Amino acid sequence: MRKNYLLTPGPTPLPPQVMEAMSRPIIHHRTPQFQAILKEATEGLKYAFQTKNDVFILSSSGTGAMEAAVINLLSCQDTALVIQGGKFGERWTELCKAYGVNVEVIDVEWGKAVNPVDIEKKLKANPKIKAVFTTHCETSTGVVNDIAAIGAVIKNSDALLAVDAISSLGAIDLKTDEWACDVVVSGSQKGLMLPPGLGFISVSPKAVKLIENSKSPRYYFDLRKAKKALDKMDTPFTSSITLITALREALKMMREDGLENIFIRHKKMADATRAAIKALGLELFAPTASSDVVTAAKIPAGVDGEKLVKTMRDTYDVTIAGGQEELKGKIFRIAHMGFIEEFDIITGISCLEKVLTQMGYKFPLGAGVKAAEEIFLK
Ligand SMILES: *Cc1c(COP(=O)(O)O)cnc(C)c1O
Repeated sequence: MRKNYLLTPGPTPLPPQVMEAMSRPIIHHRTPQFQAILKEATEGLKYAFQTKNDVFILSSSGTGAMEAAVINLLSCQDTALVIQGGKFGERWTELCKAYGVNVEVIDVEWGKAVNPVDIEKKLKANPKIKAVFTTHCETSTGVVNDIAAIGAVIKNSDALLAVDAISSLGAIDLKTDEWACDVVVSGSQKGLMLPPGLGFISVSPKAVKLIENSKSPRYYFDLRKAKKALDKMDTPFTSSITLITALREALKMMREDGLENIFIRHKKMADATRAAIKALGLELFAPTASSDVVTAAKIPAGVDGEKLVKTMRDTYDVTIAGGQEELKGKIFRIAHMGFIEEFDIITGISCLEKVLTQMGYKFPLGAGVKAAEEIFLK
């Protein structure tokens, strides 16, 4: 008999209410019954995004929503500024290049947050920049960027701000309207407690102007079509009926909890995880800008990082994540986003302690669990 614990930065565990919603019989999407579901889900998304802007639901993973942002905002030969500080920042660059958009890059050291002053300088130096693409929580490093400060800088320019909030939405505060985020993209399988398969994108009035004028090739992800459909409470193509029904359920749960409480819970999970990491004598990968979404820690000398993650998963069914690309084998990541509570963290830390001990790493057994418990007792 085996029990599975999922502590990865997407997908994340599903609440029973969400699983129940997905087991209901399928209904037809062009019906008043489905329209009611879509309407509630759309209103719930506006609550989660903290916006009055339109939020479109796409049948794709989060990257589909990123692609929708690039092709609807920009045309071939336009110029964009990308903030790169990890694998997901790099994805914005790759997407822009795929569509012939010229890219200026701010290369932030992995593990650090971007300094908004650097963005201001770039915008002043190159008035051609039409859009700035950034990442709220850079899931590959655990870093959180200060979107409020970035928004304040960009607001005073002609450029617009697009934020990848795929891992952060519903986990940490993101005030789309108040922070002047023109476009925010997210996905279903992280903070929103759903399976993979849905992408979301919000668009401000400033963004709508660009969407109307973009000359990029687009069809499935054409947000002009999405807008026409949404105005009739519809989607342009067959809706992901099951996932949208589950989305409505997850958003209902989030509304009942309240965003404020959800953010407090995520901070507590993150504080406990960080305290445990330090108590084990390990080092945080992003000590100056650690997100409350996912915690990255350095693999200590003498420990095989890939084997650590593998053993936890294959022997004990506790799944955490390793490092990606240049961080492969150098860090591990414990996610605490979405449907994660105290005892999920305790279990994860406990398993980490067990495998580290088996691998010969020395520390007082139980030190991580104790440190986490102490945070939870506060
Ligand atoms: C997970 C993630 C993505 C990729 O999303 P997919 O759903 O895999 O397409 C992009 N950006 C960030 C910050 C993420 O955490």
